Amino acid sequence: MLDINIQYLKGVGPSRAVKLNKLNMYTVEDLLNYFPVKYEDRRTVKMINELSDNLKCLLKVKIFEKPKKSKIKKNMSIIKAIGKDETGFITLTFFNQEFLFDKLVEDEMYYVFGDVKANYGKFEMTNPDIEHCQKDWKANKITPIYGLTYGLTNNELTKIMKTALEDYFNKIENVLPDSISSEYKLIPRKNAIKNMHFPENGKIYSLSKKTIAYEKLLIMQLGLTAIKSSLRSKLPGNEIKIFNMPDRLINSIPYKLTGAQLNVIDEIKKDMSLQKPMNRLVQGDVGSGKTVVAIYALLAAIDSGYQASMMAPTEILAMQHYETIKEYLSLADIHVNVSFLSGSTKQKEKKEILEKLKNGKIDIIIGTHALIEDNVEFNKIGLVITDEQHRFGVRQRGRLSNKGNNPDILIMTATPIPRTLALMLYGDLDISIIDEMPPGRQKTITNIVKGSNKEEAYEFIKKQVDEGRQAYIVAPLVEESENLELDSATKIFEELKSTYFSNYKLGLLHGKMKNTEKEQVINQFYEGKINVLVSTTVIEVGVNVPNSTIMLVLNAERFGLAQLHQLRGRVGRGKFQSYCILVNESKSKKSADRMKILKNTNNGFIIAEEDLKLRGPGDFFGTQQHGLSKYEIQNIVNDVDIVQNVHHISKKILMDNPRLEGNGYKNLKTEILNLFKDETIVFN
Ligand code: ADP
Ligand code: MG
Repeated sequence: MLDINIQYLKGVGPSRAVKLNKLNMYTVEDLLNYFPVKYEDRRTVKMINELSDNLKCLLKVKIFEKPKKSKIKKNMSIIKAIGKDETGFITLTFFNQEFLFDKLVEDEMYYVFGDVKANYGKFEMTNPDIEHCQKDWKANKITPIYGLTYGLTNNELTKIMKTALEDYFNKIENVLPDSISSEYKLIPRKNAIKNMHFPENGKIYSLSKKTIAYEKLLIMQLGLTAIKSSLRSKLPGNEIKIFNMPDRLINSIPYKLTGAQLNVIDEIKKDMSLQKPMNRLVQGDVGSGKTVVAIYALLAAIDSGYQASMMAPTEILAMQHYETIKEYLSLADIHVNVSFLSGSTKQKEKKEILEKLKNGKIDIIIGTHALIEDNVEFNKIGLVITDEQHRFGVRQRGRLSNKGNNPDILIMTATPIPRTLALMLYGDLDISIIDEMPPGRQKTITNIVKGSNKEEAYEFIKKQVDEGRQAYIVAPLVEESENLELDSATKIFEELKSTYFSNYKLGLLHGKMKNTEKEQVINQFYEGKINVLVSTTVIEVGVNVPNSTIMLVLNAERFGLAQLHQLRGRVGRGKFQSYCILVNESKSKKSADRMKILKNTNNGFIIAEEDLKLRGPGDFFGTQQHGLSKYEIQNIVNDVDIVQNVHHISKKILMDNPRLEGNGYKNLKTEILNLFKDETIVFN
């Protein structure tokens, strides 16, 4: 691989290297894999008489007369130049780019690229990209736009990329074995990488993207599978065959299990009673009743003389499980020792709990990440459950299961994932689905409103609050950064507090708050001390306030459908009719269609399938933790067929050549080890 320090690349040097490092680029290889977020098509030169308002285009113009420079404010300079071709004139305006003044020479030819403004038949471009025709390097091409920060300009990075490709093109080796490349009609990696940055045309760009998608996905898939098999030793697991306690539980709860719950319990029972460790994922929509299924399994483990644990991603969620379990146990008059452990458990108490776990005096332990710390040891762990596992990485999952001699593993998730993707994302897990809701639930009514009608929605919230209910308002999703998201939530909170909701109690919740602060706000909301909770998507998981009946999502068009569905699941948890209001600021038909899907169905699996069709698989990968950046996956993998093919390829490879031996696999293996360098991977 091109493991060469980026600093030594022509045109980089120490100070630019620092900036590149901040974007996670350390080697030439990293650089070449930093793909553009979009492109500009500069292949055709437009004539001035063809221009129209808002057109983004490339012109070839002669500077008509000496440009004029002026200062409008202390910190603002302005250069005005007139460009001309055979068909007309255009004004070129540059703000704060004084260095250009000497470079704009009368009667010389330049390429300019930018947005055209048309005013009464006069054309203007403000701050266009400008290059001297003799020095041009971007004109007549499709040029890359990179995601940038840290004071690096797009021009700088484009030039660096160009140099890197010139100097190292022939050193770019294939990662995929030839047999795969030819079977799936992929192109050599060097051509793919080059065309990802500087596409020659649309066709070769598609092929390049396809090639890179196969490569990235296969690396990820093989890596995940290898981690999973490394984590699972060859030793047999336990046999859990006694189900008296759990059956007593079922007979004493005040409701009848749904058919789906019974089926899943059956599947779990079968797994548990085998010697082979269970590895099962239970997918079920919010409210489908996963908890009782989990408690069933916990009690089965205890009945056969083992300990069992259940881990949740937030303290609130873990605490809720703890309370529920205690309640169920007392209903069924079952006496076992249940404890709770989280980051905020006091030192002294924690020490006691750890001691008891080790001695086997605690049967069931419920908790958060604290459960996977190194000092947590069990006497005889038989079952490990993680709830809402999409918040946990493969690695954390593995660490919990390694806390004993091959315990059974049960994972609960409320994120419905289409089957095709689940096969890949969860590799060798068996999958159970609870696809039926307990009877008698009121359906949450979903309405879509235009941005201009927000006020009506606010009025509706007020009416509900006046009747004693509570509401959530979710601030727009800001993909690029959690900080921006926080700003947007804070701004909306301040704004609503001083306008529409000045007479109501408003709360604010966001991901940057400390856990204790978050809990405080959620508790206040729970106790009814807050009427309306303004929040980022942190409330997606684990907040359960039955009195809240409205979920209002601002800029709903920015969210994935599955995510909106998840948010909607926060309401409709009590006896009151609930509402989900999606504010759609987009005018596109596509976005209106997407919103309609949510209005028309409450079934998470249907929604997930639709999301997959409309947005591609990227979003689903986004909820997982793995070595690939969210960007890479979302932008490159937009084809389900590729995901399926890769799943197939990886199975075949692991069957034919599980150690990835031979020269054809050398680079692939290196890439896998590189991507998962913090994990233990054994190929066998
Ligand atoms: P989730 O799948 O989101 O974890 P829960 O297990 O929290 O769902 O269940 C949601 C609610 O439904 C709980 O109050 C639970 O007691 C109730 N519930 C679960 N199963 C049934 C059932 N078969 N019939 C009626 N209510 C049920
Ligand atoms: Mg749950």
